[in-house]
Amino acid sequence: MAYLARALKQDLKLLAEELRIGITDDMRVIDLCKAITTHPDYDEAITKNLLAAVAEDRKLREQQEERRYEEEKQKRNHELQSRTMMQQQTTIVVQQPPAYSPVSTDGYMVVQPVPLLGESPMTVVCGNCGNKVTTTIVPENGACAHLCALMMFFIFLPCVCYPLCSGSCKDYSHYCSNCNAKLGTYRRM
Ligand SMILES: [Zn+2]
Repeated sequence: MAYLARALKQDLKLLAEELRIGITDDMRVIDLCKAITTHPDYDEAITKNLLAAVAEDRKLREQQEERRYEEEKQKRNHELQSRTMMQQQTTIVVQQPPAYSPVSTDGYMVVQPVPLLGESPMTVVCGNCGNKVTTTIVPENGACAHLCALMMFFIFLPCVCYPLCSGSCKDYSHYCSNCNAKLGTYRRM
């Protein structure tokens, strides 16, 4: 009887079920012990072994339960991590595109074909903002203008300023009319 009193109530319940003794939920440990020991088929040695087996079974089940719970927890953590990572990636994608970038998403430089620039405004695709624009031209005194002026200095001095002022000797820089980026220069030499 003493070994039964030391057992857990749930083990006693399992044992009673094993021995096919009718029990109810409101039975106390002492009631369970009494019901087991007063059963006509009661045998102390067998009951002792049976109780040990029942307790062992319950422990195993609890361990399995615990392991399953741990596995669930790990799986949930893993899912949470991958979801967080996906959200971070999504955030990066959202932050990514400015209106136009000369560097494509996979890191390669997008090269726009450079048209041959002339003395007059031209329609080109701007390498900076990506828009199709007509360039704004700005005349500049380049190597040609300076060389012509030098020649005039020796040949006909009164006309020395002519090459620097006349458009026919000047270089022309082309600027984007949208973003003002310098797209290139037409040079005479
Ligand atoms: Zn532009």
